Amino acid sequence: MNKPQHAPLTQFAVQDGCLQVAGIPLTRLALRVGSTPFYAFDRALLDARIVQLRQILPGGLQLHYSIKANPMSALVQHMAGLVDGLDVASGGELKCALDTGMPTEHISFAGPGKTDAELSQAVAAQVLIHLESSSELERLNHIAIALGMRPKVVLRINPDFELKSSGMKMSGGSKPFGVDAEQAPQLLQRIGTLNMDFYGLQIFCGSQNLKAQAIIEAHANTFQLALKLAEYAPRPLRLLNIGGGFGIPYFPGETALELHSIADHLQLWMQRLANELPAAAVVLELGRYLVGEAGIYVAKVIDKKVSRGQIFLVTDGGMHHHLAASGNLGQVIRKNYPVAIGNKMAAENKELVNVVGPLCTPLDILADQMLLPVAEVGDLLVVFQSGAYGLSASPSQFLSHRAALEVLV
Ligand SMILES: *Cc1c(COP(=O)(O)O)cnc(C)c1O
Repeated sequence: MNKPQHAPLTQFAVQDGCLQVAGIPLTRLALRVGSTPFYAFDRALLDARIVQLRQILPGGLQLHYSIKANPMSALVQHMAGLVDGLDVASGGELKCALDTGMPTEHISFAGPGKTDAELSQAVAAQVLIHLESSSELERLNHIAIALGMRPKVVLRINPDFELKSSGMKMSGGSKPFGVDAEQAPQLLQRIGTLNMDFYGLQIFCGSQNLKAQAIIEAHANTFQLALKLAEYAPRPLRLLNIGGGFGIPYFPGETALELHSIADHLQLWMQRLANELPAAAVVLELGRYLVGEAGIYVAKVIDKKVSRGQIFLVTDGGMHHHLAASGNLGQVIRKNYPVAIGNKMAAENKELVNVVGPLCTPLDILADQMLLPVAEVGDLLVVFQSGAYGLSASPSQFLSHRAALEVLV
């Protein structure tokens, strides 16, 4: 039985049967890059996504880019010119964000397990430090005293609700992220007794959500909780970071997130906030949604073989560069990412194939029993929806193959 198939995704144009990236035929782009496998990210698609979001979302809402979704430095530089701020989760990402020249007050550093060195760097750079626990608060206090500086802090809350239908839940129950909402009043009071510049709250619930209604519910809970906790804050909130969680479609049956109802609902809460917490800027932090659909991964077919009736295309790329597409980054049931033969987009002659990578493990799958144009050695396999959580989220060292190249075009 054939599994459901994907139509090739249309945000990349096709001309004369060849996929185009920023107006360049893929075959020519591959020559310019010099070797496969590579990732290509399309500036025009990144721009278009931000324009679309800004048109729909409430005017005053601040849009941040979460660097961990894609830390390629040219892409981060480009994004820095489009968004209002950058979110980082490590010392390496902090350096990447500072290199863009983004004003330091618009860089926030969240994430569990910040080392003393990372905290020192963040204090010295004067970026916003999102506190994840009471012991991190005390550690930061010691470091700030030693440095003779006043750190800018935000308290990250682990709320008592979750973001329903999320690909990845980051809140509710016992979590390593943030401070339980019940403990927050005590910590807010403690911050008030220390030499710290308190900015506000972050409440981030989950990732990869395609259900507008679930996001709306989480937003309502987030604003309610923020208003309640604001009463314990050492000074009026200047910042409310409501997280992100906007998903993109990957698999058969999934559809794009419906933004208008989310935007209308946000508008209502922002009006209310303008009355009750007039100094508070509202920040939406997005990674995947901003960059995920603007990138492809390209690998060359190196071998074609038949094993007991099934066709295998073996490519020079695989899970060492693209763990998510292989199905090994958090998926419970493996599903095929949308893939295509980039230089044979119009071919009508198709066959059922498995596409595998060069690693000596059965986990290295790029497509499992998919109907694709008949491909030969030298053809280019394309994995769509690869702009987020691609190379940097993959075990590149595994089997010591060459690293994938990355281009922003
Ligand atoms: C990872 C992360 C994000 C981005 O999540 P996406 O699902 O890629 O939008 C935002 N905020 C925090 C705190 C994160 O850890």
